[in-house]
Amino acid sequence: MNKDSEPDELEKIEGEVLEPETVPGNPNAPAVRKMIQRSGICKYCHQIRFVEIPEGATPEQANEQATEECDCDEAIRQRERKQRMQAAGEWAKNVFSKETNQLQVVLCAIRATFEGSIDYVTLKIGKHTYKVDTDSDGMIRIRTTYRESDEETF
Ligand SMILES: [Zn+2]
Repeated sequence: MNKDSEPDELEKIEGEVLEPETVPGNPNAPAVRKMIQRSGICKYCHQIRFVEIPEGATPEQANEQATEECDCDEAIRQRERKQRMQAAGEWAKNVFSKETNQLQVVLCAIRATFEGSIDYVTLKIGKHTYKVDTDSDGMIRIRTTYRESDEETF
């Protein structure tokens, strides 16, 4: 029916964790776009810089692009964080099932621990245990242990 009109919960989470390479709000934009020059403001250091954005992009998108290209410490730090989150999200997509909601839970766990609102999350799926947290360097860390139990009860 009208199944594709609303993004489902996973797409919303993925949208935050795995930001697509396409223009925000315009995922189906053609590969060749007319680019224009606009000034944007880095949201961290408030430096103004000229950026190339697709024609029709909003001032907010120009600011995002300026932030993306800025070389101030905070912009660099935030880009690194985003890359780590994307890398962890890509890994999780290959390991966990979307159909059974495992992936949604793992992506939430990665985001919440990376942002510091949760210290760590332990997930148990079958014989695998996954502990999601961050290490002392601020890297996303996911430790997997596999336990083959020999215990039998009758
Ligand atoms: Zn900046």
